[in-house]
Amino acid sequence: MSRSVLVTGGNRGIGLAIARAFADAGDKVAITYRSGEPPAGFLAVRCDITDAEQVEQAYKEIEEAHGPVEVLVANAGITRDQLLMRMSEEDFTSVLETNLTGTFRVVKRANRGMLRARKGRVVLISSVVGLLGSAGQANYAASKAGLVGFARSLARELGSRNITFNVVAPGFVDTDMTRELTEEQQAKILAQVPLARYAKTEEIAAAVRFLASDDASYITGAVIPVDGGLGMGH
Ligand code: NDP
Repeated sequence: MSRSVLVTGGNRGIGLAIARAFADAGDKVAITYRSGEPPAGFLAVRCDITDAEQVEQAYKEIEEAHGPVEVLVANAGITRDQLLMRMSEEDFTSVLETNLTGTFRVVKRANRGMLRARKGRVVLISSVVGLLGSAGQANYAASKAGLVGFARSLARELGSRNITFNVVAPGFVDTDMTRELTEEQQAKILAQVPLARYAKTEEIAAAVRFLASDDASYITGAVIPVDGGLGMGH
């Protein structure tokens, strides 16, 4: 069955791999992008998730073209790494505003249709860092840990409406985000990963697809690590 799927930040990186996985399975996939040329093959809607009006407009476009969103993957996220003493208030709030409040915004809007349909799947992309912590990433880790409490609260609030909320916690994935790390940082990270390599974006997408599939119908409030063993189940 072809479902209406929305992947925020589906124009590149992990989000794009997730969007492709759903499209390959025959779903109607919408992605958000902020600038430039979005990839072909999807309904691309321009949307910055820090802007409530743009989120509303994006949903209207998607609903007109694909119907209400049945599967939401909240993937858009940013880093603004800095040691605490040098971390500005803006470094902190911008990361929270995008990763946590932005996710709240898109989830809340998707829920309108899901409540009406009495079914829905929501998958939030967190990070191993949200659970293990990471020096220099207090803002990012706080935002990613926040997603876990957010998802688990909604799993309780809306489980009786047949809407599931799960979290995927990737380890280090080969994308623009990790390419920004220095060679020294990368070597340190890989030394701690039992599988001794980065994840491919498709490996994150596979877990997301599973959580949105019928096979995962009794899974909600879960945090699924896809981290090569880095977090050892956390
Ligand atoms: P990228 O930096 O490659 O892509 C980030 C995506 O988020 C882009 O599509 C970007 O859109 C979008 N985005 C950022 N801010 C906003 C915003 N305000 N509104 C709308 N879209 C926005 O990141 P990854 O693919 O690596 O990461 C995707 C997710 O996975 C993130 O949430 C990240 O925290 C998480 N993650 C990544 C890991 C990694 O190792 N790479 C590890 C663990 C988790 P645009 O193109 O317009 O900038």
